[in-house]
Amino acid sequence: MVDEDFVKIEINAFLFNAGIVGFHYLLENMVAIKGQDYKIEENALFISKEFLEKSDLAQAYIDAHIQKFSEDATFTRICKEIESMESLTEKYAAEESKELKKILDDKYKYLLNNTGLARNSYFSACTILEEQGYKIDLSALCKNIKEVKDYQEKYIHLCKLKEVLIEEKVKETFLMKDIIYARINSIWSNRAFLNTSNSKKNMHDVYEKDFIAPLKGYLKDCKPIKNKKAKSCIECGVLLPKTIDISFLNDSVDDMSRKKSPFWDCKPDAYICPLCAFVYSLAPLGFQTLGRNLIFVNSNTSVEVLISTNKGIESKYKIKNSNKENEKYQLILNNMVQGIIAEKIVEQSNIQVIVRDKATERYKFTVIAKDILEVLNRCQKNLEKLKEISIEISPKVWISVYQEVLKNVFDRSNQYGLLNIILKNSLKENTLTIYLKNVVDIQIEMSGGTKMEKANADNAFYRGRDLRRLICGEKTKAQDADNKLRGFVYQLLNALQGNDREQFWNLVFRMYSSISVPVPKVFLETFSSEDELQYLGYAFVLGLKNEKYNSEDKVEEA
Ligand SMILES: [Zn+2]
Repeated sequence: MVDEDFVKIEINAFLFNAGIVGFHYLLENMVAIKGQDYKIEENALFISKEFLEKSDLAQAYIDAHIQKFSEDATFTRICKEIESMESLTEKYAAEESKELKKILDDKYKYLLNNTGLARNSYFSACTILEEQGYKIDLSALCKNIKEVKDYQEKYIHLCKLKEVLIEEKVKETFLMKDIIYARINSIWSNRAFLNTSNSKKNMHDVYEKDFIAPLKGYLKDCKPIKNKKAKSCIECGVLLPKTIDISFLNDSVDDMSRKKSPFWDCKPDAYICPLCAFVYSLAPLGFQTLGRNLIFVNSNTSVEVLISTNKGIESKYKIKNSNKENEKYQLILNNMVQGIIAEKIVEQSNIQVIVRDKATERYKFTVIAKDILEVLNRCQKNLEKLKEISIEISPKVWISVYQEVLKNVFDRSNQYGLLNIILKNSLKENTLTIYLKNVVDIQIEMSGGTKMEKANADNAFYRGRDLRRLICGEKTKAQDADNKLRGFVYQLLNALQGNDREQFWNLVFRMYSSISVPVPKVFLETFSSEDELQYLGYAFVLGLKNEKYNSEDKVEEA
């Protein structure tokens, strides 16, 4: 929508919202002034018409994408690789070892073939640059370097080539080629520089022609018209004689035929106004990188929240995660949740996490429901204590307790299976298990978490600890006490695994009888349901195994 001085862009479905976040990134990168050039109010972003009209938006588009995505672009990697060759070349000149020769040959092979510089997108980059007065015969230059035999001379030629490539305009063109094929075309294609017939045309100019010229025309003369030929924008509803087909957005056509669009209402005539098309074209800037994939958090209560949520993820997790594509999705989700919670923007609704998967070319949606966010929020302290703990569950098979617990939270599965496995394992390996009390506490939170339940679990835990003391005496070493209790604990764990209340009760009753101590009240009064058996049972077992009681010979954690 356009009023006198400002255009107004309102929160909508996720991809449009990514466009809003992207727009904000663009504005910040242009050093636009908040309050003057743009305003943020609740669910809308306002941008000054005058600011948009006087700016070179196509250049701003290119600059913002380079700022955001160049760090892990192929061209950046190539330049770093070339830099790494100086010392290698010198070393080889001194040593002439076979190993160094092999390393150098591999590096040249990577750099000078289509894995590196001799790729089609860079050849078209050179064609584009030629118009601007740069004559770079990239193919011949690569071939020449290949033919030079002496490694020092070879390196001198390579450096000369690099000097040509890092000239500002050349670098920008090469980087932008990387970014449009690695990032932008994950979100949209077939338009501007991503239309195949435009691949050898100036990227600024084709973007200007397809997105900016229609936008500026619309801003200049934006009176909505009312005649039969007018079409309405599916995003903002404005009626216009000329609109833009939405098919440049990946998946839009596809999903229309399958009648389940992730981001718009399956309207058969899907057209948008130039302003909304521009917003969509900015969507890549709203995502954060996750290896080859892109990720966006749609927490759409307000524009501020939308921006800060996604920004929070970027600053904290982007660099850490960028090289770990195998990192478990749950962990990534949690990283984000931690970010969201840390920014204190847990709001009143569900959070939608969207990953654009480069390999499958699909959007993957995960909803973190409000109640799960609340559980995570309440369990931050418990989770924190599990962070560094890994257990070797069978030879060379390690599990991260933290990740497994989170997986259960996200999947809404209980933690009892995990507790059972780790406790049985600890009986064999004599490892410390006191940290598992945090897992029991998290489980209680997951299943409602009343004060009464927490108090009963603590009670069961302390009765377990008392029983350990009664059976083993105060001065017994932890290791000896463990040995004495091993069989009993093992049977209790079996009863819990089988959810066998009677068996559990019998074991507890016999143990207390054998030392002539009455069974504590907590067992008599509260074992009324299966869930109660589980969390009280595990709390009791953890008390029994509370090695910390004999702190002088504490077993180190694995
Ligand atoms: Zn519109």
